Amino acid sequence: MIARGPGHILRAVDGVIQVEPLTTARSLRGPFDYTRPPGTGIGSLVEVPFGRQRITAVVTATASASEHQLSDPFRVHDESLPSELVELAVWMAREYCSTPARALSLLLPPKGASARRLMWAEQVREPEQGERLTENQRALLASLPRFAGTDLGSLRRLETRGLIKIELRSSRREPSRSSIGVSRDVELNRDQVAALAQITGAEPGERLLLHGVTGSGKTEVYLCAVADTLARGRNAIILVPEIALTPQMVQRFYERFGDTIAVLHSGLSDGERYDEWQRLRSGEARIAVGPRSAVFAPLTNIGLIVVDEEHDSSYKHEGDPRYDARNVAERRAAAGVLVCGSATPRPESVHGLRRVQMPARVDGAVLPPVEVVDLSECAGYLHPRTHEALAASRKAIVLLNRRGWSNFLTCSSCARVWQCPDCDVALVLHRAEGIVSCHHCGHRERVPRTCPDCGSVSIARHGAGTERAEQDLSAIAPVLRLDAGVRDPGAVLKRFHDADRAILIGTQVVAKGHDFPDVDLGVVLDADSTLRFPDFRSEERTFALVTQLAGRAGRARAGRVLVQTSSPDAPSIAHAAHHDAEGFIAGELERRRALRYPPFSSLIRIVCSGARDDGAHAPLAAADAIKAHVGDALGPAPLFRLRGRDRAQIVVKASDRAAAIAKVDAAVRAVAADKTFKTVSLSVDVDPQ
Ligand code: ADP
Ligand code: ZN
Ligand code: ZN
Repeated sequence: MIARGPGHILRAVDGVIQVEPLTTARSLRGPFDYTRPPGTGIGSLVEVPFGRQRITAVVTATASASEHQLSDPFRVHDESLPSELVELAVWMAREYCSTPARALSLLLPPKGASARRLMWAEQVREPEQGERLTENQRALLASLPRFAGTDLGSLRRLETRGLIKIELRSSRREPSRSSIGVSRDVELNRDQVAALAQITGAEPGERLLLHGVTGSGKTEVYLCAVADTLARGRNAIILVPEIALTPQMVQRFYERFGDTIAVLHSGLSDGERYDEWQRLRSGEARIAVGPRSAVFAPLTNIGLIVVDEEHDSSYKHEGDPRYDARNVAERRAAAGVLVCGSATPRPESVHGLRRVQMPARVDGAVLPPVEVVDLSECAGYLHPRTHEALAASRKAIVLLNRRGWSNFLTCSSCARVWQCPDCDVALVLHRAEGIVSCHHCGHRERVPRTCPDCGSVSIARHGAGTERAEQDLSAIAPVLRLDAGVRDPGAVLKRFHDADRAILIGTQVVAKGHDFPDVDLGVVLDADSTLRFPDFRSEERTFALVTQLAGRAGRARAGRVLVQTSSPDAPSIAHAAHHDAEGFIAGELERRRALRYPPFSSLIRIVCSGARDDGAHAPLAAADAIKAHVGDALGPAPLFRLRGRDRAQIVVKASDRAAAIAKVDAAVRAVAADKTFKTVSLSVDVDPQ
């Protein structure tokens, strides 16, 4: 058999490839058989005829023969996926009630760019006396050597005269690196040595939790563990919550390992991402560092995966498949060692992983005292004690989990509330921009001057966000703001690092793993905002937030922490105030066992959504239908309207995870195929956050 494709002819065909076409349709699932072009195998990317279309597909298996009439692929791509990533995608599709095609599309090589080739011109002889050259040619010669892609004609003429030599060189597009301060080389302390020994001595397949208080030096342990992995000839992946917010961590890895590292994140240009991916795929780079998607780094022979700040919610992906990078890491590290690290690990991890502890800060620094400030004692959002502490501080980090100026607007005369026209939520005032906006869908309107219902000009603003606090606090000290509205977070962090006196105010991002030695005060302005969240993880989140913020303070200089709340007795706040992670986790696990929440069950959430239809709530009916298929489930409950769509959900609480996933998958497929619900879209979230 001879396979032919446009552009080039493929030689003798050797057997069959089974491929998964990359479409998003839930109903269309491979594998489909094609003739096998030479050199292809599991992980190859091919263009195949599919019905009347030409479609990209991934080879998921090979066979010697097929009972179907086979077509020939049009083309084989230069890039391919390691076969273990194909296996991972198939597993992900099942684990998260998705399809292999959707899972595979998350793992594809970065698109839209190929290796960059540049023209490199070098002078090989001096012009002879009296040799005639134009002014332009002389200028060109004087400017060499350099990458020259511009005036190719003139360069070629110089080349024919033997004056210069031109060659093509591929050049790596190197991502820019920001740097904050200088890190020094350190000698591991006793706790670090012990923790490292546990990691390097672990058997393949072991999963460890490095539970070290803030400032215990976990990063140094990761660095040494990675060095040990490389020395054994194996490769490593380091997951961090978000690159833009963790420049110090990445910098330390660069300093230690240089070009052995490839960084994969969304801030790279297409070309840079492609180059970093290729360096990993070719084996030139052996350590991948990046946020959750770096768990798909095209490495083989993985000896170690580190998940830093494992409690961070950014490890959960919000698109389909809704994977959790921590679970995927566990799967990928099956033949290596998984190390999850945190000062505030999830109760799930304490329950399921072997714990290695680092209970003290390096250099014997102590954790800062935490004072709880009762907000019900005062009218505003800033207690006088907090104000005093800020005035006395040199460098403070202030956390307020709300962007914008104020929470919501109401008309003082008729009580109208300004709401998003497409979502059932209040619009938030952004005074500097002169707008009110919806934080769910991005809808924006001009700030209202009068009430459209009653004409009143008396419009009240309620609550305080980071923008308002920024202005109010600037009366005390210079203020830097860091939240999702800020374009270059790295620059803000650097300015804060370099400042003599400053207040850094922001949303949760200010509490991430930053290491600023001279912060002497941490403030949580509104601990109730996470605590009031109607979710079984609200206590866990509040504990983590307060503890992480406290972790930024008092490193090289004595520090203190103030937590403003109207629920001073909540377990999360009381335990965080005593730096009592053990007590908190024990209580939390007890509560979850009693209520049968994870890790004592698995949760699966199914959300149905659809455009509003003459008052009928189709999503609610669809949710009910799914529930009827699944049997035991909580709900259906209507959710608030989002982007103009009605929504409803059911939640399955299961002891047998695999069985429940299979049941939900079947139910969702049945309802998706039911014509009654053809306007409803369905989304499944296994282990929702
Ligand atoms: P963690 O991630 O556990 O909060 P880091 O890894 O950020 O802590 O370390 C905190 C600081 O302590 C860093 O500035 C780091 O360079 C420093 N450090 C780490 N290990 C040691 C050590 N053995 N001796 C002295 N300083 C150390
Ligand atoms: Zn009004
Ligand atoms: Zn909206």
